[in-house]
Amino acid sequence: MAAIDKEQLREIREAVRAICVDFPGEYWRQLDRERAYPSEFTRAMTDSGFLGALIPEEYGGSGLGLAAAAAILEEIHRCGCNAGACHAQMYTMGTLLRHGSSEQKRKWLPGIASGKLRLQAFGVTEPGSGSDTLALRTTARRDNGHYVVNGQKIWTSRAEHSDLMVLLARTAPREEVERRTDGLSVLMVDMRDAPGLSIAPIRTMMNHATTQVFLDDVRVPADHLIGREGQGFRYILDGMNAERTLIAGECVGDGRWFIDKAAAYAGEREVFGRPIGRNQGVQFPIARAYASVEAAALMVREAAEQFDQGLSTGKQANMAKLLAAEAAWEAAEACVQTFGGFGFAEEYDVERKFRETRLYQVAPVSTNMILSYIGQHVLGMPRSY
Ligand SMILES: Cc1cc2nc3c(=O)[nH]c(=O)nc-3n(C[C@H](O)[C@H](O)[C@H](O)COP(=O)(O)OP(=O)(O)OC[C@H]3O[C@@H](n4cnc5c(N)ncnc54)[C@H](O)[C@@H]3O)c2cc1C
Repeated sequence: MAAIDKEQLREIREAVRAICVDFPGEYWRQLDRERAYPSEFTRAMTDSGFLGALIPEEYGGSGLGLAAAAAILEEIHRCGCNAGACHAQMYTMGTLLRHGSSEQKRKWLPGIASGKLRLQAFGVTEPGSGSDTLALRTTARRDNGHYVVNGQKIWTSRAEHSDLMVLLARTAPREEVERRTDGLSVLMVDMRDAPGLSIAPIRTMMNHATTQVFLDDVRVPADHLIGREGQGFRYILDGMNAERTLIAGECVGDGRWFIDKAAAYAGEREVFGRPIGRNQGVQFPIARAYASVEAAALMVREAAEQFDQGLSTGKQANMAKLLAAEAAWEAAEACVQTFGGFGFAEEYDVERKFRETRLYQVAPVSTNMILSYIGQHVLGMPRSY
């Protein structure tokens, strides 16, 4: 893929900002209060074509790379918005793009690119299997041209706002497979036509549209199997580097938003007859967080550029996600502290963003799992699980 130049990235960022201007803090506050889905924001992002950034042009997308996609998500977050409601439309299709048959791609990708088909749901985690994906228990059994799916997924975000779901299910018992990573398969579930599938929302710390999905004898046509039966775990794993890099982009956006807010407030707020920012006790945590966010941004850029060059990015994508999630949190902390009591008042959006950015140290992958990856796969230390 041709590298994107700085000028193109600048134009993309500007165009994203121009959309975000119509969705100020009050819009998000209202949704937060009502736990409502940001439909208007999602529609605006869909209509702009930004959510189809990673889909090749032959399927109606813009054929951009991960560097551009990460910049789009970063900019959304930097503007005080939140891409969590729609980012999956951008990257969940990666499994289909890389491992689907040409027929499947022709069938689904153009609709996903235009936004007519919403592929927003990704059903991997279960109540008994989060970090340990191989422990998942949802089964898919072959029966007469179909798979019959039974089980339960949890934390399936946006399921109520999606037409399709990428589902990981067990097609061979764990005891019967040669390698422990075999026996899981990816199915594309059309949730518009899935009797036996039901969804229950989960109330969470932030407004995230996440749910539990119950699957009770759900029949999925056999030709909705993506790639080869039993190989699904690998397909899901190889989409994770892209996802981690993109989420790291969102963290950088959050971090920059917190720094902007904190630095501005530190210059304006007067206590003891002078701006609080004159005190180094206030200034230094913001300066330190700024350095952390900018360092993380370099790692995000490195991970995205390597991905776009077709190079292996496990190391960079994991480090980008680790550093960016922690830097965003450091900036969030500094911002709340700078705002003092006002950091807790809804109207400044600081408390909302504070809650929102905390997620990234847990999902889509928790910090410990990334450290394990670095310890074992990058540094060659002994496996702990
Ligand atoms: C808001 C939200 C949205 C989400 N959206 C989705 C979604 O759309 N689709 C989806 O499939 N999933 C989704 N998830 C699930 C998310 O990916 C998991 O929560 C995450 O992978 C962690 O799994 P867990 O919650 O089961 O934690 P667990 O696996 O139970 O781990 C709990 C803690 O123990 C630590 N831990 C576990 N084992 C070890 C070890 N060996 N060494 C060190 N530490 C360890 C973990 O790091 C973690 O901190 C979402 C989660 C949230 C909260």
